[in-house]
Amino acid sequence: MTRIGFIGVGTMGLPMAKNLVKKGFAVTAYDLNPEAVRAAAAAGMTAAASAAEAVAGMDLVITMLPSSPHVEAVYTGDGGVLAAARRGTLCVDMSTIDPAASRRVAGAAAERGLRFMDAPVSGGTPRATDGTLAIMVGGAPEDFRAALPALQAMGANVIHVGPVGSGEVAKLCNNLIAGVAAVAVSEAFRIAEGFGVDLKVVTDVISKSSGHTWLMEQMHPVPGIVARAASSNGYAPGFMTDLMCKDVGLAVDAARALRIPLFVAPAAQQVYRLASSHGLGRKDFTSVFTFLKPSSDQAPV
Ligand code: NAD
Repeated sequence: MTRIGFIGVGTMGLPMAKNLVKKGFAVTAYDLNPEAVRAAAAAGMTAAASAAEAVAGMDLVITMLPSSPHVEAVYTGDGGVLAAARRGTLCVDMSTIDPAASRRVAGAAAERGLRFMDAPVSGGTPRATDGTLAIMVGGAPEDFRAALPALQAMGANVIHVGPVGSGEVAKLCNNLIAGVAAVAVSEAFRIAEGFGVDLKVVTDVISKSSGHTWLMEQMHPVPGIVARAASSNGYAPGFMTDLMCKDVGLAVDAARALRIPLFVAPAAQQVYRLASSHGLGRKDFTSVFTFLKPSSDQAPV
């Protein structure tokens, strides 16, 4: 049986690790948050008291952490994965981070005789729960093949994009589009609302027209239209505004380094940044709809 050390059993990591348990993998879990570790233990995982304990003697290490600094610290910091895992261990980071950070961690892993891949995911908590995530992988072909059974326990579409860092590149491109789409759909529906048109009917029309997006169909920012959407559940994440702000920011930074002009993504990033400043950072990112409110009737137009 493949033994897996899983670090970061939060909103996404917990349901993903649960699917590994369901498929017969022996999972040892660690998270900074003791409540998350308790939830993992209740779901049949072995609780670890540190990252080092979670990865010692494991065949596979999986990490699902918030952002680049967390990932770099967990792998290369004191008592981190690279110091504690045995030589030859395959490490798969499924967090959404800067592709350059993935490459740095891969380099440090190789120096210690460990293997590393990036394998970020798309689909949010519903697909993490169903085990039907899209998983985009950057790494050596033989490492991809070795990790495939575990990745297929968590995802329905597991795609090898290219060498280390490539999975993150695909993910940043995807989230740039999703982040912009949530702002665009929110703006459009504020206009429809302002005219007093039935928002369900507008949704039906758009779903059969050129403005249709997966985001509107699955994660509609207006409450009460898509039952499973975070908006219909008080904007509980789902995918937090702060994480979307981070992801669009990673795309903006990448474009800057590549000297590619971007207009729409930086604007969307600032909308998420402002929404976060106004208390929506830990709500689902589709809560931008609640932030993009009309100004008062007295305001001159
Ligand atoms: P989350 O904050 O709910 O989970 C992250 C977990 O990592 C938390 O439980 C936190 O306590 C833990 N953690 C942080 N630092 C740690 C450390 N040093 N050691 C051990 N544990 C540590 O976030 P999430 O929503 O699960 O997102 C995780 C990653 O997945 C992010 O990179 C995010 O961008 C990406 N992602 C999220 C979604 C989504 O819908 N939530 C979808 C796709 C991708």
